[in-house]
Amino acid sequence: MNIHYLPVLIPILFLMIWLEWQHNKEEHPDTFRFESTVLNICCGIIERVFDLYIYIGIYFLFNFLQSYFGLFELAQYRWWQWLLCFVGVDFLVYWYHRGGHVINFLWASHVTHHQCEEFNLSVAFRNSVLPNIFRAIWLSSLAILGFPAEMIIISLTVSGLWQFCLHTTVIDKLGPLEYILSTPSSHRVHHGQNEQYLDKNFGGFFIIWDRLFGTYAPEIEPVKYGITNGFDSVSPVKAYFHVWKDLFLMHQKAKTFSEKINIWFGTPADFYTSYKNELPKKQTPIIVPPSPAIIYGITVLLIIATALTMGVMACHEFMSNLQLFLAASAIIIFAIAICAMAERKRFFAIFSD
Ligand SMILES: [Zn+2]
Repeated sequence: MNIHYLPVLIPILFLMIWLEWQHNKEEHPDTFRFESTVLNICCGIIERVFDLYIYIGIYFLFNFLQSYFGLFELAQYRWWQWLLCFVGVDFLVYWYHRGGHVINFLWASHVTHHQCEEFNLSVAFRNSVLPNIFRAIWLSSLAILGFPAEMIIISLTVSGLWQFCLHTTVIDKLGPLEYILSTPSSHRVHHGQNEQYLDKNFGGFFIIWDRLFGTYAPEIEPVKYGITNGFDSVSPVKAYFHVWKDLFLMHQKAKTFSEKINIWFGTPADFYTSYKNELPKKQTPIIVPPSPAIIYGITVLLIIATALTMGVMACHEFMSNLQLFLAASAIIIFAIAICAMAERKRFFAIFSD
């Protein structure tokens, strides 16, 4: 299965981000900050590169499960099978996403998506790599039901494209659609750290799951974006691993087996309340506003990194394993280096925070 039609979509997604920036820059300049947008884009680049490998594994896993354990004949690609598959994917994504907010080891990998204190389309790019693996394992139940790998992956991709469009402040409430679909308004609530918005609106394509299972909250007061503990860094390494680091630190200090289990499977709210005084105090970095030269230079580097990523995504089937590994590694190092430049740090300093 060729899933690498995605490179064609990337320029369209960037065009949408640019149009949103143009729309917001005069009246709502606070919706974009240079450093966090760079980190959002670099996380997206790193995720796409890892996905070249992850999707091969996912496709193999789904295909294997459907071929050998598929309970029903659901691979005739009839319209109702597509519909069932899409609704099934969305239902499972709701529960996976809900787990990602209330179980520590899942939150450690989902937190990356919630760190940004601005809200714009580029936030959709900011994801860690591990959720794609955890989510695939969770979705493999659909392959066991009998849905073919292509159907599950395409449903997931369509849902992902819809979710990209939700990360914006440009679109207000959408009337009756708010009752059925996840919308920019309901998703802004999901990214809020306001007390009444915490752990709400997990839906991917449909919001009906939140309404059914009691996790829906409408957008009422202005949203304060980001995570309650704060995050102010441009390092993808820190963005991916800071909660993992907290969990490992407390795991080492925990005295009983049940305490260790609770560290990994308890809720983030309990974890950060219980260990507030034991975790290292955060240092707020001093971020000097970037000069125009830095902005232009980094923008050019981002364009090059994005073009290289698209090139590898389009051509990876013609590359040897070694060539792909070297190209993927080079792009990841390049993306981390761009973030270090955006934070005005030396390359290796980004690993030592
Ligand atoms: Zn979330």
